[in-house]
Amino acid sequence: MTESQSEGVGRPGPDHDVIIIGAGVCGIYQLYRLLQLDLAVTVLEAGDGVGGTWYWNRYPGARFDSESWTYGYSFSKELLDEWNWSENFAAQPETLGYLQHVVERFDLERHMQFGCKVDRVTWNEEARTWTVELADGRAPTCRFLMTAIGLLSAPTMPTIEGVGDFRGQAFHTYYWPHEPVDFSGKRVGIIGTGATGVQVIGEIADKVGSLTVFQRRPNWCAPLHNSKISAQEMADIKSRYDEIFDRCAETPGGFIHGPVPERFFEADPEERLALWEELYDSPGFGIWLGNYREVLMDEEANAEFSAFMADKIRQRVHDPEVAEKLIPKDHGFGVQRVPMETDYYEAYNRDNVRLVDISETPIERITAQGIRTSTEDFEFDIIIYATGFDAITGAFDRIDFVGVDGLKLRDKWRDNPITFLGMGVAGFPNLLTLAGPTGGSVSTNFPRGIELAVDWATDLLTHVLENSVTRFEPTAEAEREWVDHVREMYGMLLLRKAKSWFTGYNSNVEGHDRTRFMIYAGGNPRYRKRLEREAEAGYPGIRLDPAPAA
Ligand SMILES: Cc1cc2nc3c(=O)[nH]c(=O)nc-3n(C[C@H](O)[C@H](O)[C@H](O)COP(=O)(O)OP(=O)(O)OC[C@H]3O[C@@H](n4cnc5c(N)ncnc54)[C@H](O)[C@@H]3O)c2cc1C
Repeated sequence: MTESQSEGVGRPGPDHDVIIIGAGVCGIYQLYRLLQLDLAVTVLEAGDGVGGTWYWNRYPGARFDSESWTYGYSFSKELLDEWNWSENFAAQPETLGYLQHVVERFDLERHMQFGCKVDRVTWNEEARTWTVELADGRAPTCRFLMTAIGLLSAPTMPTIEGVGDFRGQAFHTYYWPHEPVDFSGKRVGIIGTGATGVQVIGEIADKVGSLTVFQRRPNWCAPLHNSKISAQEMADIKSRYDEIFDRCAETPGGFIHGPVPERFFEADPEERLALWEELYDSPGFGIWLGNYREVLMDEEANAEFSAFMADKIRQRVHDPEVAEKLIPKDHGFGVQRVPMETDYYEAYNRDNVRLVDISETPIERITAQGIRTSTEDFEFDIIIYATGFDAITGAFDRIDFVGVDGLKLRDKWRDNPITFLGMGVAGFPNLLTLAGPTGGSVSTNFPRGIELAVDWATDLLTHVLENSVTRFEPTAEAEREWVDHVREMYGMLLLRKAKSWFTGYNSNVEGHDRTRFMIYAGGNPRYRKRLEREAEAGYPGIRLDPAPAA
């Protein structure tokens, strides 16, 4: 421990005012804000460096699908002025470099501890503190605990027999090695065609000896249309940051893309087609979030747009049988997160790439040499598991949260995550679940959502400290109202029916092979107003207790 990390140790009371778990985009900004309040804070991070998502996911092709210049933090004008993005959708090394720069620039690292995996946190009612137990046996204490543990940070492997038997190299994309992997001439198998698999396949198809893609369910993918940013373009972006962030603040997803004002049913087929062709040729999520709003809300509109996208796949993939396999039949476009692709569909036109539909010929096991399906044995040098995450609640479930009277968060959240505003949980006092389930930030262009959540949490903590509150806890009633509202908002969107991480579905995780209410689907502006209302009213949904009389 450095001197500053041990701030608070040795004085009466807990070791720290605040412990933040996680040093990704969220934990970094929360630390910055709390240091301004002059609190004794430490960040505990399982990894060996900062960056979270951008520290871990080093697989080939890993990059933004947010426009880079909408993803950076907005809190510091100097930071905005000095940082140059090289591409409109930056690749992982650049984003990691950006976050390292932020940490260095604001001198944050001395308040961070790496290689610290948190296993268990326990509330001590008498002392009104949390004890945070680490895998290395240490157990620091704090008055307030904040989780910044990520929404896509609990990677999952497929539940296939024999995973340990394979004698070649095998990687989950989250745990990609820090050293480059040599693909030349290698026989590579990849399992999974979600957002990550789609990025990897597009990137490595022309670098490997052969690539076999094992696909269970296809996704609707859309072209990213990435491009370099010239010095002049960057200067222009810098001059427009206020405008850009204002725009992000008014769209439901916190992106520059928001639904077009025109209505689907009022537009004639030629108008619809013209808009869709334009969106298909435009960069980023516009095709998903800048479309007619009915595409995401109405079955008929969704079916028509899905047919348009299916034709695009047929146009790009030469073999009609392969094209049909790549067209989703069990869900419409945009009801699951849309993977953004570069040369993905063209990869299947290459002689060295083969698609295996494991809904028809399931994987039976991993063998010492490769993968065995119900009809064939495949031999590989490398197997890539692009099998995703136990999303949103996974990182919480991997920590044993023990609250008031021994209540376990895992038990409370067994059927559905229950929170107040996605920020706190009844039965778990003095805990702020930044970017937590049912919160607004998990369904947005992340930094736009998380700056909102962190600012709100910081204001709450300021209020708590100024009013000599030593214990705060959401009320059960406020929590019930919020959960009802979250369910109501899901009702508006077709995504409620999809088996995706937005609905907490993951057949590789016991108990998660069903859909749940995981995100706030009411949009960023509505979420912001709700947070503001709560703060302006003096936090009526949160019980604020002063220190008990001595
Ligand atoms: C490949 C990929 C691409 C993405 N692209 C985009 C994009 O373009 N736009 C967008 O808005 N979002 C994107 N996301 C979502 C992304 O996760 C968020 O943008 C953002 O990085 C989340 O930041 P965070 O700090 O909340 O969580 P994370 O970055 O996940 O950081 C959480 C940290 O907590 C640590 N941690 C977790 N549990 C523990 C524990 N028990 N003990 C100690 N430490 C722990 C983890 O090690 C991790 O470092 C992407 C996600 C992935 C996986």
